[in-house]
This record gives sequence, structure tokens and C-alpha cells, in this order.
Amino acid sequence: MPAVDIAIDVGGTKTLVSAFDEKEVEPYSSEEIPTRPAEGIDSFFERLSNICLRMKGSRNINRWGLCTAGAVSPEKGKLIWSPNLGWKDVELFKRASSFLGTKGVIENDCNAAAFGEWAFRKDIESLIYVTVSTGIGMGMVVRGKILRGANNAAGEIGHTIVKRNGPLCTCGRRGCLQSISGGRGLEIRANDSLGIEIGTKEIIDRAELNEPVFKEMITEASETLGRFLCNLMDSLDPSVLVIGGSLGKNRYYFDRILKTIEENYYRVPGKKVKIELSSIEPNPNILGILSLSRRTHKD
Ligand SMILES: [Zn+2]
Repeated sequence: MPAVDIAIDVGGTKTLVSAFDEKEVEPYSSEEIPTRPAEGIDSFFERLSNICLRMKGSRNINRWGLCTAGAVSPEKGKLIWSPNLGWKDVELFKRASSFLGTKGVIENDCNAAAFGEWAFRKDIESLIYVTVSTGIGMGMVVRGKILRGANNAAGEIGHTIVKRNGPLCTCGRRGCLQSISGGRGLEIRANDSLGIEIGTKEIIDRAELNEPVFKEMITEASETLGRFLCNLMDSLDPSVLVIGGSLGKNRYYFDRILKTIEENYYRVPGKKVKIELSSIEPNPNILGILSLSRRTHKD
């Protein structure tokens, strides 16, 4: 029987596990489990190993990849720190390889998605992937290499300060990009100014209906993000900027981001600014970490 490739995306609330026949990009099976990070690392890995072993059945595991939010050192095989999970200094590779085998990779989730987007496109020099959902993150790939930074902390654009004395961010500072343009930030601001619990989707829907408070909030959010991405494109000049995440893919929000970039980018003769929506849906992290594991461990 042919061997199986396993891809795992560990999120703050849920973990997605997908199993693939070799060379396939459609999983033959996918399952979601609650991450429950507060119950501890041992308990999580025990549940993860049970699900992986059940999914592979009697077949062997060939390659595997695991990605998560936070600073990951693939070189040391460790998760350095993940504020979403509340985990620090975890031997991710060692723990996962004990039941998945040694042909694996670990990576930051945004980096994995960026690699996937790069690998699934043909002949491009460089790509920036930006995810906009609860928070905002970025991954960059240049000629097949992931840009990780000296501290494995590159791409934390959500926590770059874009407004003096701006809204309080979950990181404790003020005016971070995600406190203005991310989903959680929008919800907190709606709650602070109107005293109501309201989800991101409804905030956008009501902006689209021209309700002034929401329209103003979304205008500021999309223009701030658009200007930031415009600066990013002008600084790094990637072949493609890919936008993903539930909020980034929202047509109303995306169109406004695009408009700000198009109005503001620095016009070098012959320069083409290419902005696309994520193409490896519905789970860019999963397909990204899968393609990274296949590229790392070639047969
Ligand atoms: Zn912050």
C-alpha cells in the first residue's frame, strides 16, 4: 500500500490534521480537534498522535509537516514562543517525530502558507503572503527560501505600530496594525465605542449598508492596511502580494485595500504591482506545510 503524507495546522482553538496520498494535493481525510492548549503539551500530543495513527490506518507515514502561529525555529526543531497557545520552548520536532517518523518539517504557519503560495505558482521570483483574520501576519519567500529573520520572528507585521496613541493592542502596546485593521481589533473598538458585542462579519456588513460608525471604522481599517501593504510592496518589490485570511478575502474589505494600494504605490517605470487572493484554499497553512515537507524530503 502506498505511504501517506500528513499535514498538521495547530491553531489557538482548533488543530486541523489532513492525510494525503503521495503526490496528491486533495486530502483523502481531514479531521479537526480542539487544541485546548491550557491542558498542556503532553495531553495535546497524545490526542494528536491518536488521530494521526487512526488516519494513516495500516499504511506507513512518509513525510509530515506541522505548522503553528508564533516563533518557530526549524533548525532547532522548536517552538520558541506562541502567545496564541501560551506555549514556550517546546520540542515540536522531537515530539511529533516520535509517532510520525523523521521525514518531517516544522514551520511558522504564515511562512508555510507563503511557501505553499510560492510553490503552487510557476516561475516567480518572490512572494509575500499576508493573512488578515483575527490578527495580521506575513510570510515571505524569495527564490524558494523562506525569510525567517535572525530571531525567527520576521513577518510580525500585525504588531508594527502605525498610529501614535492608537487603540490598545493585545500585545500591550498602542496603535499596532492589527489593533486597527485586524478582526479582533475591530471587535474591541466596536465594543469600546458602542458598548456592543459584535462580530467582524457584521461590522463589515453594516459598513456596506452605509451605517456611519461602521463605515468610518472600516474606511480607517482598510486604508491603514492598504497604506501599510503599499509601503511593504514599495520596500520589498515582490513578484506577487497574496492576501488571505477570512477578513482579507472579504470582497468589500479587499477591494478597499486594493484601491488604497493602487492610488498610492511608488511608480517606477515598468513596475507591475501584482496583488492576488490566496489560491491554495480552503487551508493555505495545510497545503503550504505539505508542499514544504515534500520539497524538503524528496524521495
Ligand atoms: Zn500589538
